[in-house]
Amino acid sequence: MTTPETAEVSLDSLIQGLRGFIESSDKYVDEINNMIIQRKRSLVVDFHDLLISNKDLADMLLERPQLVIQAGSEAVRQAITERDPELAKSVRNFYMRFRRLPESLPIRRLRSEVLGKLIMVEGIITRQTPPKHYLRKSVFRCSQCGYEVEIPQPTTGFVQPPKRCPKCGALNSMVFVEERSEFIDWQKIIVQEKPEELPPGQLPRSIEAILLDDMVDTVKPGDRVYLVGVMNLDLADLKKGKPPVVSSFMEVNYVESQQRELVEIEITPEDEKKILELSKMPDVRERIIKSIAPSIYGMEDIKEAIACLLFGGVPKVYPDGIRVRGGDIHILLVGDPGMAKTQLLRFVTKIAPGPYTPRVRAAQQPA
Ligand SMILES: [Zn+2]
Repeated sequence: MTTPETAEVSLDSLIQGLRGFIESSDKYVDEINNMIIQRKRSLVVDFHDLLISNKDLADMLLERPQLVIQAGSEAVRQAITERDPELAKSVRNFYMRFRRLPESLPIRRLRSEVLGKLIMVEGIITRQTPPKHYLRKSVFRCSQCGYEVEIPQPTTGFVQPPKRCPKCGALNSMVFVEERSEFIDWQKIIVQEKPEELPPGQLPRSIEAILLDDMVDTVKPGDRVYLVGVMNLDLADLKKGKPPVVSSFMEVNYVESQQRELVEIEITPEDEKKILELSKMPDVRERIIKSIAPSIYGMEDIKEAIACLLFGGVPKVYPDGIRVRGGDIHILLVGDPGMAKTQLLRFVTKIAPGPYTPRVRAAQQPA
């Protein structure tokens, strides 16, 4: 294998390689056609498919993601242009996004060595900003001669106008032109490690992640997600006279909610029969409570609360159709260390992973 860090690679050869990957696969040719029909801008690629088709490209993606993702986006544009040039012209940005990397790293173990690499993490979204507008490309115009220059925006820091006009040479004449500059949607989310990964007695850790363009608002607080992206440094933290310590954030390439998996759970006719039988038993309530974390002795009140949490409440709908409260039940466990709070939590996430009640209810809804 070539060592991707040192090998000289041209963007063109990467684009060619990724075009070849798309065109040689029925699955992704179909996806491209779907993108055209559904007016989508992102082609989502399973990492495994790329690995099987072109191992060098897959290795390169992990080591130098910025470059490969950029090439991928261009490859998608070319594939769309070939099939629907009108559409391709009307869309500013296409993206190639990657999902299902071979392993996901615990948020707690993200260290400096992952910077700049493509990684996958799992966690729960705890906060989300409203969408904002990210300046992706700045246009500066010379106030003397009207000459315009376009400068792509680096991930952090505001791009400075050129000192001199490249055409007429006037000093400090370049001014920012808002209406010609390119803005895309931007959203910051905070992703916290999963409670079952939390070592006892520790506070949960989290990372900041940035969603851009069509990824904005595809997930919401409470969702359990896989994030694929690149950890970047926030160089705006670097200031004269301060220690050179900076924080990092993830530039997200792909985010996927894990919620869907549970909706797809199949209840067989035998399951249904058993569930209906159980529902007719006079002591069904006690049975359910007893089945919560059976290895933990006592705590019946808490187990009852957990049982209620798993089933969820009833949403309140006013006569005018306005819903208040989703019917979700939240519980807060407070106690001394060693009181089995974490074990109880682990049990809950094992039988109903995810934002508990909505997922359980989703599984009960007939298709
Ligand atoms: Zn000028």
